[in-house]
Amino acid sequence: MGQKRRDFLKSLAVIGGVSMINLPALADNLVKKTASTTGSKMKLTWKPYDLQLKHAFNISNYSRKTTPVVLTTIEYDGLVGYGEAAMPPYLGETQASVIEFLKKVDLGGFSNPLELDEILHYVDSICENNTAAKASIDIALHDLAGKIIGKPWHQLWGLKKENVPNTTFTIGIDTDEVVRQKVREVEGLFKILKVKLGGTEDKRMIETIRSVTDLPLAVDANQGWKDKHLALDMILWLKEKGIVMIEQPMPKYNLDPIAWLTEESPLPIFADESVQRLRDVERMKGVFSGINIKLMKCTGMREAWQMRNLAQALGMKVMIGCMTETSCAISAATQLAPGLDFADLDGALLIQNDTFDGATLQNGKMIASDLPGIGVKPVKA
Ligand code: MG
Repeated sequence: MGQKRRDFLKSLAVIGGVSMINLPALADNLVKKTASTTGSKMKLTWKPYDLQLKHAFNISNYSRKTTPVVLTTIEYDGLVGYGEAAMPPYLGETQASVIEFLKKVDLGGFSNPLELDEILHYVDSICENNTAAKASIDIALHDLAGKIIGKPWHQLWGLKKENVPNTTFTIGIDTDEVVRQKVREVEGLFKILKVKLGGTEDKRMIETIRSVTDLPLAVDANQGWKDKHLALDMILWLKEKGIVMIEQPMPKYNLDPIAWLTEESPLPIFADESVQRLRDVERMKGVFSGINIKLMKCTGMREAWQMRNLAQALGMKVMIGCMTETSCAISAATQLAPGLDFADLDGALLIQNDTFDGATLQNGKMIASDLPGIGVKPVKA
């Protein structure tokens, strides 16, 4: 895209209003001014990539040292949007399934990348599930759209990027000595830690961490507690130990016991496995205190933004979470973190072969860059 046209688009963006909520109307203007004159087409490409974790990742009954991802790009008129699908194995998608999905995507019918609603509705309609694959297109398209307009998404959404909650940093289950060592390594960098419980050593894990730090702790039980009365006893004990929130205490379909637990619990209870997409949010009201939104579960930034708005309108708390993923997907998630109750955006900090610069850890918070789109630049791993 020529500099002149980009300046023109930027001036249109400014006219469109500071917070740019009315993107479809703006897109309508832009399509007339760009696509008709350039004839550009969007080109989707992808490559599989394996993330190497710094430490083996252990949760109850499960351990791994790598996470497969697929990195995507959408090119248009000289600009490149970057996206990513991250596939922790327990969620069912693989590099092969993501690539199979991406091969079915034909963006040839769309001449304007700013028509996010149209394009992403089409992508979602190709087939069921495949939410990480869909997110890899959603993120690349948001990055591209932000670059066309010349602004990062937190600005387009009207958010103040510094106004984010401290990110949690997960301390994996391990021997007492390793746990203490991990906590000491990161204590100065983070203002809240996250602990995965739901196994048989829950109290010991907390005591071990408490032997070296007084930082607030978030607890993710990963559906591990099976009895609501025992779960409440545990939560009351955890409250005394300085835990500030509980994520997914019981199995995802046990909504009645969870609703009872939320009612009785002195700590807020967040849904993770129980809530995947926008359609799940409304029935979480009265069951959980809040929801954990992850781009890879919900098909990306567009639906994540809708979930956030619906949950907040329903009076629920919202946290933004992640998988182990590069700074590409983390930076995308960071765009919508301002104003939320909790952020769990440590995914890129856990890997040793990140391929993007983007959001950075500053004083315990993940803060978006000022670059347009999702705010990333590719780097050599
Ligand atoms: Mg979780």
